[in-house]
Amino acid sequence: MSDSREMGNKIMKLFQFYKDGAPSLGIRTGAGWIDAAAESRGRGIPAPQTMLDCIRGGEEALAALRALMDGAELLHEEPQLAPAVTGGEKILCIGLNYRKHIEETNDVLPSYTVVFSKLGNALAASGEEIRLDPAYSRYDYEAELVLVIGKAGAWIPEEEAMDYVFGYTCGNDVSNRETQLERGSQWLLGKSMDGFGPVGPCVVTAEELDPDHTGIRSRVNGELRQDSDTCHMIFSCRKIISYISEHMTLKPGDIIFTGTPEGVALGQNGEKQWLRPGDLCSVEIDGIGELVNRFV
Ligand code: MG
Repeated sequence: MSDSREMGNKIMKLFQFYKDGAPSLGIRTGAGWIDAAAESRGRGIPAPQTMLDCIRGGEEALAALRALMDGAELLHEEPQLAPAVTGGEKILCIGLNYRKHIEETNDVLPSYTVVFSKLGNALAASGEEIRLDPAYSRYDYEAELVLVIGKAGAWIPEEEAMDYVFGYTCGNDVSNRETQLERGSQWLLGKSMDGFGPVGPCVVTAEELDPDHTGIRSRVNGELRQDSDTCHMIFSCRKIISYISEHMTLKPGDIIFTGTPEGVALGQNGEKQWLRPGDLCSVEIDGIGELVNRFV
């Protein structure tokens, strides 16, 4: 996308950064980073202050942010990012949603969408260090497209499901395979250690991305590990939203990790390259950007 299109206010990439210790909303353009709250105050244009405000504010909030983009002052230095979405009620995750990932892990093709969750302690930002506790040694990465829900709904028909999406971000479903797989059938503890759900760097609004066809990759220390496309999902985003909403009301700010393609350490033959302290892991999704975390 060219800068001219971005400055024409069609592209909305939103991020959160830490200001006085709390997440604050910003706009990323081709030219740089904009502090939405500071611009809003300085120019007397009411605008959302956090990502959740923005999601709840709907079209009106997005229009206010677009108005701020014209003539905005850019931040002088790159901000310290916060998790792209915070304060939502639910962090849901889909397991076993790419055929080749199921094959590499010798698992079984599910008849129904496999749903599990992470808790708020798992959220982390792009650029944040994630601790690998030395008590365990089989830590893994999972590149995933993350849906950000924009409005409340239950029993959402598939054909209307995408109307409930505010936008998309990148996620890494970091996993402690020992706790996830070797201690019974529930995954929560292995999937929700502190920082094990980084999301970011930004949220692109729904109209900017085709969730059924976009490239998704992960790299560890620069080495390509996963390289796929969301077109290979078994349960599409619209199916996932519809199915979950038959069990619980989805709400603005809820996020859904949509599953990972093949290429994780668990699926490697021979000696597996588990994540180790010092590793730099990136999740890249075309049209969104790159979520980068160092493990320590
Ligand atoms: Mg996963």
